[in-house]
Amino acid sequence: MKYFFLFIIIFSQLSANPKNSWQDFNDGQLFIENQLQKQVNKNKAKNVIVIIGDGYGITTNYINRLNQGQKNGGLGDEFILPHEKLDHLALIKTYTTNGQTPDSAGTSTAIHSGFKTKSGLIGLSNSSKRGDCTSEKKELESIMDVFKQLGKSVGLVTNTRVTHATPAAVYSHSFDRNWEDDSKVPEDCLQDDIALQLINSNIDLVLGGGRRHFLPIEVLNQKGKRKDSRNLIEEFKTNGGVFLNDNNDFKNYKIDSNKRLIGLFSDSHFPYLAEKENKPSLLELSNLAIEYLNRNKNGFYLLIEAGRIDHGHHAGKLNYVLKQTQQFNNLIQNVLAKVNLKETLLIVTADHAHSVGINGYCGRGSKINGICYRINPNDSKHQNKPNLGLDGKPFSVVNYLNGPGSIFEKKYFFYYANRKRLSDFDYDEIEFDHEALIPTFKESHSGLDVVAYASGPSSYLLNGTIEQNFLFHIINHAVGNSNINQ
Ligand SMILES: [Zn+2]
Repeated sequence: MKYFFLFIIIFSQLSANPKNSWQDFNDGQLFIENQLQKQVNKNKAKNVIVIIGDGYGITTNYINRLNQGQKNGGLGDEFILPHEKLDHLALIKTYTTNGQTPDSAGTSTAIHSGFKTKSGLIGLSNSSKRGDCTSEKKELESIMDVFKQLGKSVGLVTNTRVTHATPAAVYSHSFDRNWEDDSKVPEDCLQDDIALQLINSNIDLVLGGGRRHFLPIEVLNQKGKRKDSRNLIEEFKTNGGVFLNDNNDFKNYKIDSNKRLIGLFSDSHFPYLAEKENKPSLLELSNLAIEYLNRNKNGFYLLIEAGRIDHGHHAGKLNYVLKQTQQFNNLIQNVLAKVNLKETLLIVTADHAHSVGINGYCGRGSKINGICYRINPNDSKHQNKPNLGLDGKPFSVVNYLNGPGSIFEKKYFFYYANRKRLSDFDYDEIEFDHEALIPTFKESHSGLDVVAYASGPSSYLLNGTIEQNFLFHIINHAVGNSNINQ
């Protein structure tokens, strides 16, 4: 009897809006069937691939979903991103030991060492102080050490400088994330800079940007950064490494040996629109990395960082973020096509979130980088009238809480609110500073949770709301390592 009433209630709900609800209802039934058939993969992982969207928090994921869905001709919300099809997920708490709002140094160290530490530190324990060589130095064993001990290969791919915080936590230990070359390390400090640590490490493959930190000042038209006159790229080659300098080198490279491989394709980070400057794409670099590392029969660890999502947000330029997240989707789709999830643990996550928010109440189909239009009571798609603030002006779907696009302007030492009347047309301009509340030079990170999506061996352990450093322990468990000495 109870079920009969339930049926009547559901049926009356559905018949009230017969146009699309049966589809929703059937999707729900299919979801239950799929969930019941899911099998837990307790195999030992041969390979682990971690894809980090730098700054790719939950809000950015929502922005990406709507953007990709709208680009594909839909209203946006219904779209499913490639990583949203993975089997398991957890919410990740990203704070560092001293930062409610974290940075990439502390968060990447948590992922790659199993310990939370202070913001700004790379691969060092919480007992160290940022920028202080005289403070205690306890180097944390990293994922690279774990994988090397198991006879596996290690690689990283990024579109930032390879010495930048997120990749640096794979292979280095530094009192300061900014000590990317020797010019920044204080003179009385005995610590090697991050670029030198990279060259001296036994990481197998590194592809990204940041040539300037490996070259002396005299090189690159005085844009080299090293004060010690060392050319680390020449030293690397002399010691038997293979170096790729540009897209030609990349296209001509054939994998024919186990020689260590480093490719640095720009002086600093990759440009936002890398394809316009004849650089290999993150997707192409990842393909090479997987092919290279796959030759080790014991397996590999690969970090792929889509690092410029973060920079687009910092600049307050949402359109750059949209370009970067589209590349991020293609990258993940491509990796999924390349790997065997029976033996590869794939984790897609972010190091931290950003101070970006979503307005309401917007009708469906309001452009994610445009104006928030009114909900249409008679149709799925929004009305052509925008929602208005009490100042009588429209507002955008996405807003930053702080950043260069602040609605406050400075005049004679005073800031005053100056909200402009903007249209979708203004927001479409690629360099547009998206509207923000508080005026700052750079938009900031936020302490909001991020998601880790996963499939493959041990991915079922990603469950609940967990600390970011637990990801290391999940990876460590997945490869069957029981031997950690810290
Ligand atoms: Zn950042």
